[in-house]
Order: sequence, then structure tokens, then C-alpha cells
Amino acid sequence: EQTTKYDDKHRISRDDIFVGRILGEGFFGEVQEGVYKCPSGERTRVAIKTCKDCSADVKEKFLSEADLMKNLDHPHIVRLIGVIEVDPVWIVMELYEHGELGNYLVEQQYILTAAKLTQYCLQICKALAYLEGLNMVHRDIAVRNILVASAECVKLGDFGLSRYVDEQEYYKASVSRLPIKWMAPESINFRRFTSASDVWMFGVCVWEIFSMAQQPFYWLENGQVINQLESGVRLHKPQQCPPPIYGLLTRCWAYEPHSRPTFRDLVLSFSEIHKMELEQ
Ligand code: ADP
Repeated sequence: EQTTKYDDKHRISRDDIFVGRILGEGFFGEVQEGVYKCPSGERTRVAIKTCKDCSADVKEKFLSEADLMKNLDHPHIVRLIGVIEVDPVWIVMELYEHGELGNYLVEQQYILTAAKLTQYCLQICKALAYLEGLNMVHRDIAVRNILVASAECVKLGDFGLSRYVDEQEYYKASVSRLPIKWMAPESINFRRFTSASDVWMFGVCVWEIFSMAQQPFYWLENGQVINQLESGVRLHKPQQCPPPIYGLLTRCWAYEPHSRPTFRDLVLSFSEIHKMELEQ
């Protein structure tokens, strides 16, 4: 009997999965659409992540994302359905049919209102406040890593870079495949990642949302970004961004990590702004 890290809830059988078309290309391999028949007989649409290279160390890295996700339960975080640990290894998640938020923003740019965009920001902020409470840092907050479940609901995904950190500690990254234009100065300089550096990244992600998925600092090379940040340059206010939200962003981009608001603070601020927008 093979030992397994997955509890009964996340151990599923390949026989209960019907594989459909290819959705996209992930870092480890193709992502396919499918249908999963639950033990109760109910059918759910799923996204299946596959892993091209089945060597032990690659497989371990691939499955580390599922390992983190299996402990998460939040309405605005991508839901893990299960893992198949026998080759070929699969990670099975709930399917969000509208795909990546980045693409959705471009397609729907003429019908998305500021109130709707603020609602998406608030939902992601709530997901991040939940992670902050678990001492988990995400490290890759960007519209490419948010999926759209419906016009009313977005989900934070891609826990491939996430880590648990002890309180007062931080995760020192070793990989060089890092999203420089989204990163806080201390992450670029010292590869220091904390909930406060996630707050900085969230600010950049909010900027992307109100810019309809333009790339932050698209006018700069990666290597130029840190100099700009250190001389005090910040992303400008996107035209669609309500001034009170831009006010929050400038606080998320405080040079000193301890001067930034927490996600708990930000949830309150975004809720209030969202409420005011709905009343207008
Ligand atoms: P990786 O993080 O391994 O690079 P991604 O999460 O970026 O892989 O997935 C690759 C593609 O598959 C993305 O473009 C995304 O659109 C699609 N995808 C991934 N997960 C889902 C999901 N749960 N629902 C819908 N589409 C998904």
C-alpha cells in the first residue's frame, strides 16, 4: 500500500474523470478541461493540470501547489478537488469557465464598471486577508493568476510560488523566475517575501485591474525597475481608477514594509469604497 499525503477528501480515482479539450499550457504541462463524477454521483466541471516530466523531483514540485491548496477553503480562492498521485500525476481543480482575469478584462473592457472592478479587488483582498491569517505568502499576485468564475466572482489561483512563513519570518526565495515588475523593493533587493510584500503586489494587481490588464511598467526593462522605485517613482493612477482607491495603492507602495496597510485594513477600506460606489 502506497503512503499518501492526501486525506480521503482529496484522493480521487481517475475512473471518475472524463477528459475533454485542452484549456491551456501550464508551467509543468497541459491543462485540460474535464468532468468529475463525485462519490455522490453529482458531476462537476474541472480543470486538470498534468505534468509532462514525471521524474521524482519535478513531480514533487508539481504537487507542492496541490499540497498547499488542499488546506485552503475560501470563496475567492481556486478550489482543489483532488490529486491523482499515480503516474501520470494529475491535479484536479474546479473549472472557472471565463478563464484568466487578464484576458477577461480586455474582452469586457467596455462593459466593466468601476464598481464591478472594485468588487473584484475586494474579493481578491478578502482571499489575501485569509492567507495573511494563515501566515501564507502568495508571491505571485497578478491578473494572470486570477480566474473568473462568473461576472460576479473571481478566484485567486496559482499557488506555485506560495509558501508558509513563520510569524516575524519571511521566505527567502531561491528561484530567479520572479515577476520583477510586480515585486516590492525588498523582494527585488533581498528576495524577501512577507505578507507586506504581498500587499505591494496586490497594489500592482489592482493597478492592472483598473488599467484593463496593461503590463505594469511596460515602458521599462526589468533591470530598470528597482532604480525607479528607489528614486520614488510609482505607477500612475489609471484613468478608470477612483481616486480613493489610488490613495490606498500609494500606501501599499510605501517603501518601508511596516508602513504598508495589512490585508485586514485593506478589506475594510475596499468594502467602504465599494459601498459608496454602489450608492452613487
Ligand atoms: P501553471 O501555473 O502551472 O503555469 P496555469 O495555472 O497558468 O498553470 O494554467 C494554465 C492555463 O490553464 C491558464 O491559462 C488558465 O487559463 C487555464 N486554467 C488553469 N486552471 C484553470 C481553472 N481552474 N479553470 C479554468 N482555467 C484554468
